[in-house]
Amino acid sequence: MFEVVIGLEVHVQLNTKTKLFCSCPTSFNHKQNTNTCPTCLALPGALPVLNKEVLHKSVMFGTAVSATINQTSYFDRKSYFYPDSPSAYQITQLYTPVVEHGKLRIDFEDGTHKIIRINRAHIEADAGKNIHDGPISKVDLNRAGTPLLEIVSEPDMRSAEEVTLYLKKLHSIIRYLDIGDANMQEGSFRVDVNVSIRPKGDEKLYTRVEIKNINSFRFIQRAIELEVARQIEAWEDGVYARDICQETRLFDQVKQETRSMRGKEEAADYRYFPEPDLLKVVITDEMMREYSKIPELPDEKMARFVRDYEMNEYSASVLTSAVEMAHYFESMMEEGISAKNALAWLTTELQGRFKGEVNITNSPVEAKKLALLVKRIEDGTISGKAAKDVLDFLMEKGGDVDSAIDTLGLKQVSDTGAIEAICDAIINANQDKVIEYRSGKDKLFGFFVGQVMKESKGSANPATVNDILKAKLG
Ligand code: ADP
Ligand code: ZN
Ligand code: MG
Repeated sequence: MFEVVIGLEVHVQLNTKTKLFCSCPTSFNHKQNTNTCPTCLALPGALPVLNKEVLHKSVMFGTAVSATINQTSYFDRKSYFYPDSPSAYQITQLYTPVVEHGKLRIDFEDGTHKIIRINRAHIEADAGKNIHDGPISKVDLNRAGTPLLEIVSEPDMRSAEEVTLYLKKLHSIIRYLDIGDANMQEGSFRVDVNVSIRPKGDEKLYTRVEIKNINSFRFIQRAIELEVARQIEAWEDGVYARDICQETRLFDQVKQETRSMRGKEEAADYRYFPEPDLLKVVITDEMMREYSKIPELPDEKMARFVRDYEMNEYSASVLTSAVEMAHYFESMMEEGISAKNALAWLTTELQGRFKGEVNITNSPVEAKKLALLVKRIEDGTISGKAAKDVLDFLMEKGGDVDSAIDTLGLKQVSDTGAIEAICDAIINANQDKVIEYRSGKDKLFGFFVGQVMKESKGSANPATVNDILKAKLG
């Protein structure tokens, strides 16, 4: 009877070397308040100068979501006082953002899809950080002035599932474009969730509540569930108008509730006005051509994998959702191995061996090495079973594939002379079985193969063993 309506604001920290309006480095693990200058400390008289790289990355994003790029955009001043913002205002883009009217496609498990409209993406400066240390609070301004791209969706999402799909796709695109780390835990991908409900069929939008401070996909799902339940209950109890107001709420993961943080400011409270210290932002046609060059995106890559490698959509999506995974796979494929083997050895064998902090970005076995291992199976040097031992060895001890095969003594014997000798020995030792086999007990063939494999300690090439035994047993 109710429909859930959700719109998201996502703050993406752009991975530029320097800050938005000054040349201070953006790196974080530095001593507090050392990455600062008169501009980001907001000392009187210091003037901001726009970092071109921020513009470049914003245009790349706009291009990736098929948006309109405003070749002329403006900065605005949003006034508010908070100790982590020494200027007492934030420079942002309210009236004419650099990116407008984009769209992002989400795909459901049942094969259907939906387009989520992006209202805008604008450039703004981040604040510093307040650090609360017992009775004392401190301010670290290293982050002040770091460039953010705030991506604002239309209220097009109707469930927590759609929200998760949208965020995962957005995250994936940022990583493919390499314009940000997009790390939720570290705060370089911050999500504000706006939630309202309405009777099904109703077209108008009802009061939205904004939930901030949620730093994992699981918590976002949970916060939505809790907030929707709270609004529905208020409606059913007849107290919706009294209890549900436009406000900012915090998600408390310990108490499992959302609670009021502050009333939502109206735009008027911020006294927005055009930023007098900056010129309008102009992107020339030449800059447009340069900035709108973007790499292949996850959807295109997935379609290409399905087409070129004859894999199903599920496998292709596993390989393409994270850019590091896609690059790893592509690097393996350059070695001329089969896609099917590359897929299995990457997703099942290699990933199955990841523990703790180890993942595709820091795997001790890199793509070329894993590809060579697969190649050694394909050219008959080792069996698939032996390759698993080789991979264990490489994960633990490192080194190269061929030496590992030698060290472990796993080279498959395809040398017919050696296998023939073993076959002869097995046949001689089992004359009774040979007679039975020749008189029609076909099933015994497996017994002979097994004995030969055992004698060779698994190193004989099974196809060669089969051929030789067939010839000898008749
Ligand atoms: P603010 O910065 O004041 O939160 P924005 O316009 O930047 O305002 O963001 C508003 C967000 O809230 C957008 O993502 C929009 O889609 C969403 N939104 C607006 N109205 C509703 C509503 N009634 N229900 C849910 N989401 C809404
Ligand atoms: Zn600075
Ligand atoms: Mg908001």
